[in-house]
Amino acid sequence: MASRKRHTTVEPFALEHTNIVTGDDEGRTLHDMTIVIDESGRISDVMPSPQIAVPQGYHRIDASGKFVASGLINMHVHLFADGKPIDPRQATPRGQALLAGLVRTPVGRAYIRKKAISGLDTLLNSGVTTIRTVGDVGYTVVGLRDKIAAGKLLGPRVFASGPMLASPGGHGAPLVALECKDEEAARRNAEANIDHGVNAIKIAATGGITDSQVAGEAGSPQMDVASMRTICDAAHACGLIVAAHAQSPEGVMNALTAGVDTIEHGSELTDEMIALFHENPNSLHGYSSLIPTLSAGMSINAFPREVTGITEIQYENSKPVAEGMLEGARQAHMNGIRVGVGTDTGMTFVTQYATWRELYLLTHYAGFTAAEAFYAATRVNAEILGIGGETGSIEVGKCADLLVLDADPTQNLRTLAAPKLVVAAGRPVWRPSVKRFDDIDRRLDERL
Ligand SMILES: [Zn+2]
Repeated sequence: MASRKRHTTVEPFALEHTNIVTGDDEGRTLHDMTIVIDESGRISDVMPSPQIAVPQGYHRIDASGKFVASGLINMHVHLFADGKPIDPRQATPRGQALLAGLVRTPVGRAYIRKKAISGLDTLLNSGVTTIRTVGDVGYTVVGLRDKIAAGKLLGPRVFASGPMLASPGGHGAPLVALECKDEEAARRNAEANIDHGVNAIKIAATGGITDSQVAGEAGSPQMDVASMRTICDAAHACGLIVAAHAQSPEGVMNALTAGVDTIEHGSELTDEMIALFHENPNSLHGYSSLIPTLSAGMSINAFPREVTGITEIQYENSKPVAEGMLEGARQAHMNGIRVGVGTDTGMTFVTQYATWRELYLLTHYAGFTAAEAFYAATRVNAEILGIGGETGSIEVGKCADLLVLDADPTQNLRTLAAPKLVVAAGRPVWRPSVKRFDDIDRRLDERL
């Protein structure tokens, strides 16, 4: 279920005389290499150029002077918005209820679908070849995931969560979350998502910033441990990992205890939590990982309210959350916890095309080297998703999820902002380009 086989064929080709970014945490690079991609979209050969024979009939692309790296993976994506400031009126309970009704109309559905397709296209063109959504409006993304896997739509490989699971009136409800009033409802809702074909599950363990209405709501524990445990059991039984939105020490501890596989955003960590990240008996793979999403936490906090449009309460709530998130990321790095990369796209100032900024923030504020940040966004993310054998590095047998770059990203992360060629499962996107929001980019460049 976790990885769907692609049944379509692609035009085979080779990238010749290029530098390969191995993507290990030391940032090793190989020179004058050739990569061969066969008609199944997989890497069939990787060798020093003088030793390789490209099969007859394959397109040969001279990539000398370029750097070929594995495509990025973004673990925290929302496809219902594009990163322009969210109107706080839409995030009130009244606004959410109104929108929840609208998105169920034919026009609303069409809008959500169009938005999702545009987001997928932008992510791919920005060099992201795998995503996990963690809170969708309905199940539109599940359908798009299958279209991509069948070769009918060009896009990144998708792990789709469908709606989040939250406590009544909790974070994301009712627009992007199903409400679980007790353990039984939690089980039913988890199973409903699984029946709709999701291949990721997301829980709101605590309140969030975007829809907070009172001081202290962001990070305040919402779903109880027993309900979260029930959801984890249902998901793990199907081989699915569970993500939990958790923005306070108490919330993180609750979610880890329940057996959640990835903590989204995070907070300051205690020794007990650090130990649970390393070894979590209730998780799917025996450990849990942290996905800090500094892009969302730091962006909303770095600008005056007039710029982001958030309310006074949301601004106040964002401060301790952003500080905790940053501290948690630093501690995780220092203590050897698996840290994955996700940005929380769709939130205010988190566009669909700036995954590279998260890598930059990890290096600038959380102690990562550029090589470590790149490693986190590729190999570590693939491992967390359980697809380490499919993608995350350039190796024979893996899917050809590749970026052709002007520079070595482990030396210069910014080169990731403008890939020259993106290849997703062997399908090339020639001259990738995205529609940028120049004012947002300029502000982020200035402040972060
Ligand atoms: Zn999110």
